Amino acid sequence: MADYCKMWESLGINLEAHDQLLNAIPPIYQQIFLDQINRPQAMSYFDMVVMEIHGLRIQELQEHKAKGGAVVGSFCVYVPEEIVLAAGGLNVGLCAGAEIGFDEAEKILPRNLCPLIKSAFGFKMSRVCPYFESCDLIVGENTCDGKKKAWEIMTEDVVPVYTMDIPQVKSEKGKELWLDEVKKFKEKMEEVSGKKIEVDELAKAIKLVNDKRRALQRLSNLRKNKPSPISGRDALLIEEIAFYDDNPRFIEKVNVLCDELEERIEKGEGSKKDAPRVMISGCPMVIPNWKLPFIIESSGASLVCEESCTGQRYFEDLVAEDGGSVGAQLEAIADRYLKIDCSCFTPNQERIDNIVKLAKEFEVDGVIYNVLQFCDPYAVEYRRVEKALEKEGISVLRIETDYGQEDSGQIKTRVEAFVEMIS
Ligand code: SF4
Ligand code: SF4
Repeated sequence: MADYCKMWESLGINLEAHDQLLNAIPPIYQQIFLDQINRPQAMSYFDMVVMEIHGLRIQELQEHKAKGGAVVGSFCVYVPEEIVLAAGGLNVGLCAGAEIGFDEAEKILPRNLCPLIKSAFGFKMSRVCPYFESCDLIVGENTCDGKKKAWEIMTEDVVPVYTMDIPQVKSEKGKELWLDEVKKFKEKMEEVSGKKIEVDELAKAIKLVNDKRRALQRLSNLRKNKPSPISGRDALLIEEIAFYDDNPRFIEKVNVLCDELEERIEKGEGSKKDAPRVMISGCPMVIPNWKLPFIIESSGASLVCEESCTGQRYFEDLVAEDGGSVGAQLEAIADRYLKIDCSCFTPNQERIDNIVKLAKEFEVDGVIYNVLQFCDPYAVEYRRVEKALEKEGISVLRIETDYGQEDSGQIKTRVEAFVEMIS
C-alpha cells in the first residue's frame, strides 16, 4: 500500500489504533476470501478495493473535497444518495462491522445495544475511520429505537447528526411525511454544498444510482443458476463495497465480473453442484463482519441470496427516470425508498412476502435468519418469517450473534447440523 500516513494524520486519525485495525484485516481476508479455490478473476478488483480500503478511496474523497465537493456519511439505505450526488457530493456508508472502540463507545452507550450502532460510535470515538473523518455531513435516521436515541447522544457528545424522520407506518400520512423529509434533505444538501439541485443533475444522479442497482441486480440474478457461479461471500463483499466505491468504476467492474460469471455458467463452473442452497435473511452485514457467511459456506452450503440491506434491500427497486421536474423526481425518489421493507415498519407484510418470494426464486433449501444481538425489530419479526417459511415447507435457522468470534464454534455446530438436515 502507498504511504498514506500524512493523509491520515491530516484527518486526525489515531495512527496507532488505526495500524492495529488495518493489520487485522489481511489475515482474515486471506482465510475468508483469497484461499477460495477457482474464484472469478474479476474479483481481483474488489480485493484491491479492500486492501486499499483506507487508502485510494480516501485519497479520492480528499481530491473531491479539494475541488469543493461535499462528502456525506450515512448509516442506512433510507438516505437517498441520488440527492447527495445531484448536489455534487459523494455518499459513504459509515456502518462498521468490528468491535473497534467498544470500550470508548460503552462509556456513553449501554453495553446491551446492537453492535452495529456501538461499532459506528467506536470507530468515530477512537478516530480510526478516515471515512467518518472525511464527512461534511453525517446523516442519521429514526428507524430503530437504538439508532434514533443514539443520534441524540452522538450529536451531544461526539459529532452533530442530521436526522431524517422515517415513518413507522406506510400509510398516506406516512408517505406525506416521508416526501416532506426527502424535500428537506434536498434543502439540507443545497445548504451543505452551496449548490442548487437542478433537474438535469438530479436526472443524472438517478440514472447513475439506478445503473449501480441494475449491475447488482444482474449479479444477483446470475446467482439463481445451479450451481451459483460465485460464492456468497464474494457476492456479499461486492454488496458491501457498493456503499463507498466510486460509482461509475464500481458499475463497470461489477459488469465485467458478470460477463465472466456468464462464461462460468456456460461451462457449469461455480459452487459444488449438490451443495444445499441457502439464503441469509435479516440484519445488515458490514465490512469486516463476514463471520456468518464464512461459517455457512465452510459448512458445505452455497449462499445464494442476502435478504438484507447489504443485499437485496439495497438494490431491488429503482427510481423512475421519467420525472420532468425536481418535484416529480423527488416524489419518484420518495416512492422508491418507501418500498424498502426494513423491519422497523409496522405492519410489514411486504417483507414477509418478499422473503418467501426470494426463497422460491433462488430455489433455496433453507434460510438462515441473522439477528444482531439486541436488535429488537429483526429479532421480533422472526416469528412471522418463520411461520411464513414453514408454511411453504422451507426450513429456517435463527442465529443471534454479535461482532465477536467467541460464539463461532457454537454457531458452526448449529449451521453444520442445519446444512446436513437440508441436504
Ligand atoms: S436494517 Fe433498517 S435501519 Fe438498518 S440500514 Fe436497513 S433500512 Fe436502515
Ligand atoms: S441491526 Fe437492528 S438494532 Fe442494529 S441498527 Fe439495524 S435495525 Fe437497529
